[in-house]
Amino acid sequence: METNSLLQIARDYGSPIYVYDAEKIVSQYKRLHTAFNKVKQVKINYAVKALSNISILKLMNTLGSGLDTVSIQEVQLGLKAGFLPEQIIYTPNGVSLDEIEKAAALGVQINIDNLSILEQFGTKHPKTPVCIRINPHVMAGGNTNISVGHIDSKFGISIHQIPHILRIVENTNMTINGIHMHTGSDILDIDVFLYASEILFETAKNFKNLDFIDFGSGFKVPYKPGDIETDIEEFGKKLTNRFNEFCKEYGKNLTLAFEPGKFLVSEAGYFLTKVNVVKQTTSTVFAQVDSGFNHLIRPMLYGSQHEIVNISNPKGRERFYSVVGYICETDTFANNRRINEITEGDILAFKNAGAYCYSMASNYNSRYRPAEILWHNNEAKLIRKRETFDDIIKNQIEIDL
Ligand SMILES: *Cc1c(COP(=O)(O)O)cnc(C)c1O
Repeated sequence: METNSLLQIARDYGSPIYVYDAEKIVSQYKRLHTAFNKVKQVKINYAVKALSNISILKLMNTLGSGLDTVSIQEVQLGLKAGFLPEQIIYTPNGVSLDEIEKAAALGVQINIDNLSILEQFGTKHPKTPVCIRINPHVMAGGNTNISVGHIDSKFGISIHQIPHILRIVENTNMTINGIHMHTGSDILDIDVFLYASEILFETAKNFKNLDFIDFGSGFKVPYKPGDIETDIEEFGKKLTNRFNEFCKEYGKNLTLAFEPGKFLVSEAGYFLTKVNVVKQTTSTVFAQVDSGFNHLIRPMLYGSQHEIVNISNPKGRERFYSVVGYICETDTFANNRRINEITEGDILAFKNAGAYCYSMASNYNSRYRPAEILWHNNEAKLIRKRETFDDIIKNQIEIDL
């Protein structure tokens, strides 16, 4: 997206504000789809939690995407956005049987990730086909915050418990129609992913009624210059070969499913903030923007380094800044970062602000959550209004004291 369009959006709609470039979302979707065009049936289920605005979901629907959901509310959002129940997979973790039954009643594909619920659900609803989430115990990515496949992770049913699964399936007469893994975000190494896939294939052989194998997600996108990203084309080639081979062995053309969040929307997003204050201390120059971890928490939560560009002065000489927020808490977005000279009032654009940014925003410090814009066909379309004081107060109850 052009810098000028971003600046114009900040002028027209104010800051802070999230902007998503529809074209980038479309091209990422197509890139992933193309990488697997040698597989007969491929299903990409967009992970709603990355960015859950209903207009983004509608955009995904126009592309032919399905949805990966982790809560009954995300299922409801997907249905409201026009998805059919069969286009939605529901992959919760640690939710009640009651919620899973509600999702099943809506007709979405259920994915169960623990033995207790599997047994209870199978006993009560043996006719509803269920996918099971496997934990292949593969450590993917370098950050333990986001590696969910290793030995003591809370996600998935351990591959060491396959005999238990088989016993439950036999006793309840339920049908397992899919198997799934999601080893975690930020896969650095295709071979790690392929290794985990082998474990999934091995597991799949135990189930005779599969329709699909879901490989989850974990595609890495570049955050800062020089970052490596998953080589989707290479990965596509390798996994396609292995998957087609497996289908032959299995005796059926299964659907290969993925559920990317970050890969589809991260790079499409820009978070625009205004510099309130430039504060020179004895050692540091702080640029304080009209936001904080209430609007973008990834740098503080995961140590993510979002590239920050001064779009008001893109040709200015570079200086070192620590970019921080305005909330009463340490909320450092960037430490001693080289940025084009900043003046109070400048607009800073945070890149890679599509995934897990707005969706993790809060009202901390009783601030409003930002507005959201979809940049579509060279036009800015408001897809979420900035909050107002009414939003802050609407569920609060003033009692007489
Ligand atoms: C969060 C999540 C995803 C998406 O992960 P990304 O790293 O954003 O691609 C996929 N599947 C499940 C089950 C998830 O919880």
